[in-house]
Amino acid sequence: MTKEIKKEAVIIGAGLTGLSTAMYLKKQGVDCIVLEKSRQPGGVIRTFSEKGFTYEAGPNTGVDNTFGVGDLFGMLSGYCKMEFADPSAKKRLIWKDGRWNALPQGPVQAVRTPLFTPGDKMRIMAEPFRRRGDSPQETLAGMVRRRLGESFLKYAVDPFISGIYAGDPEELVTKYALPRLYRLEQEYGSFIIGALKKNLLEKGPRPSRRVFSAEGGFGRLIEGIENFVGKKNIICEVSDLTADKNREDYSVRFSSAGVEKRVSSPVLISTLGAHSIEGVFGFISPEDIKVIEGLNYAPVIQIVLGFRDWKGMEINAFGGLVPSVENREILGILFPSAFLKNRAPAGGALLNVFMGGVRKPGIIELSEQKILGIAEREVSELMQIPAFDPSLVKIFRYSHAIPQYGKDYTLRLEAIKRAEANNRGFYLAGNIQGGIGMADRIEQARCIADKIISSRNPETTTAEL
Ligand SMILES: Cc1cc2nc3c(=O)[nH]c(=O)nc-3n(C[C@H](O)[C@H](O)[C@H](O)COP(=O)(O)OP(=O)(O)OC[C@H]3O[C@@H](n4cnc5c(N)ncnc54)[C@H](O)[C@@H]3O)c2cc1C
Repeated sequence: MTKEIKKEAVIIGAGLTGLSTAMYLKKQGVDCIVLEKSRQPGGVIRTFSEKGFTYEAGPNTGVDNTFGVGDLFGMLSGYCKMEFADPSAKKRLIWKDGRWNALPQGPVQAVRTPLFTPGDKMRIMAEPFRRRGDSPQETLAGMVRRRLGESFLKYAVDPFISGIYAGDPEELVTKYALPRLYRLEQEYGSFIIGALKKNLLEKGPRPSRRVFSAEGGFGRLIEGIENFVGKKNIICEVSDLTADKNREDYSVRFSSAGVEKRVSSPVLISTLGAHSIEGVFGFISPEDIKVIEGLNYAPVIQIVLGFRDWKGMEINAFGGLVPSVENREILGILFPSAFLKNRAPAGGALLNVFMGGVRKPGIIELSEQKILGIAEREVSELMQIPAFDPSLVKIFRYSHAIPQYGKDYTLRLEAIKRAEANNRGFYLAGNIQGGIGMADRIEQARCIADKIISSRNPETTTAEL
């Protein structure tokens, strides 16, 4: 017999989006449950400690650029602590012509850097006087060429986009992929003037915009949220999950520990990636499902390398990125032990190497031996290691790592809005819309919980929450 429970909200997926949503709802006294396919909550977030190294299988850092981040860690005080990246290692390195160059962090460095051509350096100075773009569908590459020049695209934006999206600026649309940058041009007519004015004019509290992790790794954040929400409210290892709509409620069926179960609820929140949506929601039109599923994801391989006794180049930066024009086999290398506490034994180093992305999707299929061969070749040369002798090697593959917000984003957003408008109490969350970063995921959760609470108590405003 099917076991049935009633809840005030059901959340599908226990990644950062689902767990943060549960946390905000719990804070407001909403009786909710999270249903998760995997053995443990956290989604792509997983932290391990081994041989004196503490490393991440998924995201390593976030940027504290939404109010949700500080708010969430605030609610978790006592469970887990936010850790900001050490500012002494804030330099970002870019590989050009056989060596690392620091990405300029000020006007003097910008003039001196070998990364950009003299012509483009002049062009950057004239950026405030350039005409405002008028196409919301303009790609990032198009916008950067128009405002800053080709060398800036190749040696600043291209590697930056590899580091965030594992993507291609020729495919990503600025309005959706980097909405803050798009708004700077639209509102102020210039990135430079816009950034300066925003800094000067913005009053009141604002996010720190610093790079963050959690002390002991993001696994601690997940444990903290689990404790806040209550472990009994997060059911892992569910299978065959489907959701239907009755007159008043949603009915979610699934199997757990060999038992068929059903939860009914007036509120249903999906946090599934586009590739996991097929066959789950019987009440969304097949046409809309098709559009949502069409979202392209970059595949990414993350290789964790722990060196007990580091003999390579001096590591005093956040990481190094490799522009695609340099034609190398990796996207970049992050140096977590340079800016986070206790990630490697004293004298050692922890590196995270990234491969794949939209330009080299085939890498995800390579054997472990071949992947390690690439890592050895690339890391030995780029990090100037005399002997490649890591005492820790871990390979994590993600076939659907980072969604690419391209020209079809508007169509997808319309399909999502239609599915939500036709189904009261239904929310399509997760990284299919609203940003790929951890801060975006937390902020989306905060906004959805806010909407749910407001619809229950129409007189309640955000300010009161
Ligand atoms: C390798 C990698 C590195 C990253 N690095 C960074 C970074 O440095 N900084 C940053 O800000 N962001 C980074 N990101 C992005 C960030 O980690 C994600 O945007 C965020 O963690 C996604 O959370 P989510 O809950 O939306 O999705 P997910 O974490 O994917 O969670 C979705 C959950 O749904 C579950 N699920 C799927 N199907 C079903 C089903 N049928 N029934 C029940 N459950 C189901 C899945 O098992 C999963 O647990 C990175 C992502 C990856 C993959």
